[in-house]
Amino acid sequence: MSDSTTQRILGYKCVGCGKEYPLEPFIYQCPDCNSNLDILYNYELIRDIWSVDELKKFPYKSLWRYHPLLPVENPPENLSMQSGGTPLLSFPQIQTEIGKINLYVKDDTRNPSGSLKDRATEIGIRHADELGQDTIVAASTGNAAASLAALAAFYEKKAVILAPASAPPAKLTQILQYNALLYPVEGTYDDAFDLSMLVAEANKWYSRSTGINPVLAEGKKTVGLEIAEQMNWQIPDKIFVPTGDGCIIAGVHKAFLDLVRLGWTSKLPQLIAVQAEGSPAIVNALDSGKPMEKVRSDTVADSISVDLPRDGEKAIKAIKESKGFAIAVSDDEILTAQYRLSKNTGIFAEPAAAASMAGFLKAMRLGKVFEGESIVILASGSGLKDVPAAQQKIEIPKAQPKNLESFLTFCKEHQSK
Ligand SMILES: [Zn+2]
Repeated sequence: MSDSTTQRILGYKCVGCGKEYPLEPFIYQCPDCNSNLDILYNYELIRDIWSVDELKKFPYKSLWRYHPLLPVENPPENLSMQSGGTPLLSFPQIQTEIGKINLYVKDDTRNPSGSLKDRATEIGIRHADELGQDTIVAASTGNAAASLAALAAFYEKKAVILAPASAPPAKLTQILQYNALLYPVEGTYDDAFDLSMLVAEANKWYSRSTGINPVLAEGKKTVGLEIAEQMNWQIPDKIFVPTGDGCIIAGVHKAFLDLVRLGWTSKLPQLIAVQAEGSPAIVNALDSGKPMEKVRSDTVADSISVDLPRDGEKAIKAIKESKGFAIAVSDDEILTAQYRLSKNTGIFAEPAAAASMAGFLKAMRLGKVFEGESIVILASGSGLKDVPAAQQKIEIPKAQPKNLESFLTFCKEHQSK
């Protein structure tokens, strides 16, 4: 790292015991208590070298426009992959149904491999490159793996993926299509995660496993930075975030903390963690006021199906500090919201991503959102990765006779739907 980088990034702080560590050597977790680490920036220095006007001059939509707030020395030379830079959409169609709430959807299905995970991968790969490491290993329920495989292909790195053998075939296909080494694990995501730690340690490979590498949340936070910039620094009242390991919501929280510390904004949005009823470890911990306990996860939303959230401590801190809350939604609510989101917005989100829409609709029913609020729901991954899940709410019509009369009858029967 250059002198200017070591001045811009101060080091790591343990979210468990609060102990601070220097930037070098790179460590994944606190050597004292094994908790996760947060990256500390020198905001005074960043304020001196960067401004909203400087940001406007950056010619690319890519997440690299926020480089002064990212934990790597330099952006990659080739910026054409464009991770991030996704649209923030508003929808009059939904607006009429929900009354005086200003609703926006952050469409992160449009990232290179179809999910928000590309934001973390971009930073992870660049970081590995600066550490001189060529092979990157990840455990993933699918999206992070597909993301690593895709961007490793682009940036000429070797990707090694450990995924539950039960992951949706489309996601496993995507991994292999990018020529990554896939090790399908007989077991759950948690089993794959534990094995990936052993594999990384034994081979001295860089670990892109969500939930322990502090660099990854810094990539994910760019979704929050973008939301703020796209809303012209007017912070939304609430952001609904699909939550499994807790890394995305922790990243979004960090984004808004960064902006307050820079003086670019003055408040934090309330962060709402949306979990599946079949994977509710964070909801349970907040409801009971007790430490997080492992659950036996079982949900159609595979991307947020997690027994024990690896970034749960950071997620709970983000929810509490932002005065948000956590909400659990059923698989049926998720699939219904998935269909409604597609029907009203043109976005085909995967079940986990549609969970944020389901959480918003449920919060509205429970009187937890209010007239006049501006609300962002995060659509974090594409539905094309898990078509069979969507098909639970869709019936494909059977073949029809090839004549006009049949067509007109068919239209009458179906148009009212
Ligand atoms: Zn510690």
